[in-house]
Amino acid sequence: MKTLAVLGSTGSIGRSALEVAAASPDRFRVVALAAGRSVERLAEQIKAHHPALVSVSGPAEAAQLKALMPRKNGVRVVTGPEGLEEVASHADSEVVVGALVGALGLRSAYAAVKAGKRLALANKETLVVAGELILREAKKSGAEILPVDSEHSAIHQAMRSGRASEVERIVLTASGGPFRERDVLTFDAITVEDALAHPTWKMGPKITIDSATMMNKGLEIIEAHFLFGLPPERIAVVLHPQSVIHSFVEFEDGSLLAQLAKNDMKFPIAYALNYPDRLPNRFGRLDLVSVKRLEFFELEAERYPAVEVAREALRAGGGMPAIVNGANEVAVAAFLQGKISFPEIVSVVSETASAAGPVAAPSTLDEAEEIDGMARRRASEIIHRLSRAAVAN
Ligand code: MG
Repeated sequence: MKTLAVLGSTGSIGRSALEVAAASPDRFRVVALAAGRSVERLAEQIKAHHPALVSVSGPAEAAQLKALMPRKNGVRVVTGPEGLEEVASHADSEVVVGALVGALGLRSAYAAVKAGKRLALANKETLVVAGELILREAKKSGAEILPVDSEHSAIHQAMRSGRASEVERIVLTASGGPFRERDVLTFDAITVEDALAHPTWKMGPKITIDSATMMNKGLEIIEAHFLFGLPPERIAVVLHPQSVIHSFVEFEDGSLLAQLAKNDMKFPIAYALNYPDRLPNRFGRLDLVSVKRLEFFELEAERYPAVEVAREALRAGGGMPAIVNGANEVAVAAFLQGKISFPEIVSVVSETASAAGPVAAPSTLDEAEEIDGMARRRASEIIHRLSRAAVAN
């Protein structure tokens, strides 16, 4: 029996994690949940999973939640960033699912790692912003980090068929998003709705936009670097529109090992929760005959400039990945609010990065948040300028 805490339990990954747990009640018990403002959904999750501790964003949400729960419920409700950290380091949990969106997940992921938990990490921004710091802390506490990102889960699985020293390179697959075949000259006219229509995966809005720009793949290169210890030039990307092969590991003898599964985050979640053992599959099988065809295309740099921006940030090292991540979060939000155009998302990020200049890697969480905050402010200024220029036109 493994005990679980889920950070971001009402989001898309959090709900999938609870489905995985509910499908194998003999193996998993949920002890703590952290949600933000989706109080009604959290109340349903409490009813279904009986955690001992839950956190919500603030006192107003805590009051709403208490009103929705039966009087004698045995659930402790905590709030704010401290509450989130309490859920992350709950003494009774062995595995913590880190599924909060964006840089918000950093402190809680750090708390889980510090407490020596297995961290099933869906929040790639955590490693992008503070990879060195998180890994150092994990080494100290003995915490394991298992990826809940389909590509990195695939790599983690394929890595098991050889020694780390035998790995030539890893190849991340990318669906190419909704604009793989769209004329690049029309990218200015891309609407929020166009960008939110991902062809092969159903995900939250931030990551869906990141998949359309492919900043998601760029961040995944950085994530892969921290998880698997390879330099940027040994982390390749290939377009694979079917999203059936989730990534490859190429060994020095020329063998490529791939992992294939249905496009459903419950598969990488189940792997991360139950590793090194495999869980009996309760979520359907991949039907190769109905897939028929697996295609691969080269990544066009001009269509997806975000990938090179992220790779460059990894090469520059230090605080640069954090700057790119912070600027990207602000730029994606501005695009979703109609303030900037689709191509401007990446322009904002790359302009923020070049204006920042070299920054040392954060050695504390405060430093990481400082770099993140600086990047957000600079990106907001650039966005402000761009949207004023657009109005003037
Ligand atoms: Mg992914």
